Amino acid sequence: MPTEQQIQFRERISHLKDFNEAFELVKAVVLQKFRMHRAGLSLILQMMPSNLGAYHMLGSNAIVMNSYLLAAVKKIAGSIEEYNSYMFMVLAHEYLHSLGIVDENTVRQMTYELCTWMLGGDHPAAKMAKEDPSTLYPELRSLMQSQFSREFQVVGNFDRSNQTYIQ
Ligand SMILES: [Zn+2]
Repeated sequence: MPTEQQIQFRERISHLKDFNEAFELVKAVVLQKFRMHRAGLSLILQMMPSNLGAYHMLGSNAIVMNSYLLAAVKKIAGSIEEYNSYMFMVLAHEYLHSLGIVDENTVRQMTYELCTWMLGGDHPAAKMAKEDPSTLYPELRSLMQSQFSREFQVVGNFDRSNQTYIQ
């Protein structure tokens, strides 16, 4: 059974409206759980090979998300809650990298811990963090996209709250 706090977090995941809201939640829970924080990141959407969800270039301030895979998950996912779970989990993973945690296994473990603590182990975000989104959606394995597109899109107003509400 999920705890009261987990029920509240599940509600918030279900009602996320966009990347900015998802990222605000990522930052809040990473601070709460791991006492880690940074500001000033930007989010870029780019078509990338289908085996790559997103990446953070070390030392940069950008998270680059695979728009091809996002669109595929949106199509395949059974609900907005699942799509939001994917978006949240990928952003949390890359945010942890951006905090200076380079090791892939460490980041995966922390993302899983975060999602389990927040939402319970049976939540789609926790399941995707544990293995891979394709555990939930085997259809993703047959996607054929193998190229990086040269075009990309910068998500507006991303990670601006610190500047707006700075004290
Ligand atoms: Zn990673």
